[in-house]
Amino acid sequence: MGETGTPVENDPLNLLLAVQAKDVSLDQLAYRRRELPERGRLSELDRSLAALRQQVAELTSRRDLLEKRQSEIEGHVESYGKRMAAIEARMRQGGDYRDAQAMSTELDSLAAHKRGLEDDELDVMEALEPLGQELAKLEQELAGGEAARQEAAAALASAENEIDAEAASISAERGALASGLPADLAATYERLRERLGGIGAARLTDGRCSGCHLALPTSERERVLNSPPGTLAYCDQCGRILVP
Ligand SMILES: [Zn+2]
Repeated sequence: MGETGTPVENDPLNLLLAVQAKDVSLDQLAYRRRELPERGRLSELDRSLAALRQQVAELTSRRDLLEKRQSEIEGHVESYGKRMAAIEARMRQGGDYRDAQAMSTELDSLAAHKRGLEDDELDVMEALEPLGQELAKLEQELAGGEAARQEAAAALASAENEIDAEAASISAERGALASGLPADLAATYERLRERLGGIGAARLTDGRCSGCHLALPTSERERVLNSPPGTLAYCDQCGRILVP
């Protein structure tokens, strides 16, 4: 070797620990991205908007039914009115007394039905009024909720973008470091990392494995410290690559 670079570049195991540090940072960023409070806020808003929309749909269908009922009643009222007008016209033309008597009785009966229908229509209109007010209130809440959702979605996107930019830069650094690792060491590390919660390599510090934090027995410590160059030592307790 000609010029000496930094120790990290010269020593695959220390290089591995540098890669491991970047991987930990990336894992932390991924966790932060998943757990962003903006994400929670957005799903909270989605839930309340869904509930509001459900309420609006229910009230709207109740209102539509009542309006349909109102227009049916109005149709009946109109037809009773027409029948009454026709009888009244015939009565004005005169006729014999018995006919007049029968027509008058029919007129009374039609008028009574018509009044009953008009009362029904009033009931329907009374039921419609608060429904309309409630719907207007809910529509307003819905509009407010949708605006808040848009804001929350923008806030989430911006928080995600910030994390993504940081992750991209760390990922680039990690890639540059990892390209210096021997392929078999990188493969072993990846396998262990996947199996052991993201930590595949740990430093032996003050006789402890920094992966599982357990102290190594003296003989083990000696074994790791004296392992010949080019060989890998593993923690007996957690199985991670141990770097002396
Ligand atoms: Zn360990």
